[in-house]
Amino acid sequence: MRALETWAIVVAAGSGERLGADRPKAFVKFGERTLVAASLETFEDHDGIDGIVVAVPDGFETEMSLVADDLGAGKIAVAVAGGASRAESVANALACLPESAHFVLVHDAARPLVDQDLIDRVMQGLAEGADGVVPALAVTDTVKRLGADGAVAETFDRATLRAVQTPQGFPVERLAAAIERAGDRLAEATDCASLVEAAGGRVICVEGDPRNLKVTTAEDLRRAQELAG
Ligand code: C5P
Repeated sequence: MRALETWAIVVAAGSGERLGADRPKAFVKFGERTLVAASLETFEDHDGIDGIVVAVPDGFETEMSLVADDLGAGKIAVAVAGGASRAESVANALACLPESAHFVLVHDAARPLVDQDLIDRVMQGLAEGADGVVPALAVTDTVKRLGADGAVAETFDRATLRAVQTPQGFPVERLAAAIERAGDRLAEATDCASLVEAAGGRVICVEGDPRNLKVTTAEDLRRAQELAG
């Protein structure tokens, strides 16, 4: 029997202001290619991924086609213009998935070092029936919440905290329903799992990867390049 189709959404529509580059973050140079090309190549090469939709900054659709051609990435079905927030970019890309897509893995182009094993772990969690699967790492810093006056209001129990990464996996219909339910508050979501949680879904954690860092600053980009070797 043919496995249920799994698609990837790579969100690459952020401006990347904090990186200080002269172009959107996803299109800065990373090794021989661009930041977005690194994770696209990993999803392209994964046997369990049937197709890919990329959300790019408005006007960067052609640039994205060139990246896809350069990679020989035949699974990239569509490059769609992203929205004003990450969650809106996800929503735009989700609307482009074919009806045959059963599961979706949503990944930040800002994490170029995602690898095949991490994708496997997320897909395994989905196969076990979760409404959402997030790669997670234990938190080594103590985390505090600030009150309105800027002073510390609360200290969390570190043992119960996790820092989560992407790719995050979902049954397509769960994520679509959660986005629909969020309505005007969609833009506030900093990850997809929080939307599914708010809709009452059961989100589970799988082991994240410390190498799978998120590139925000020029220093992060340098570290990621170093790790990529
Ligand atoms: O800005 P930040 O690094 O948190 O963005 C996480 C990911 O979401 C990045 O890969 C970025 O390109 C993407 N994003 C997007 N559309 C936006 C904002 C961010 O696709 N409007």
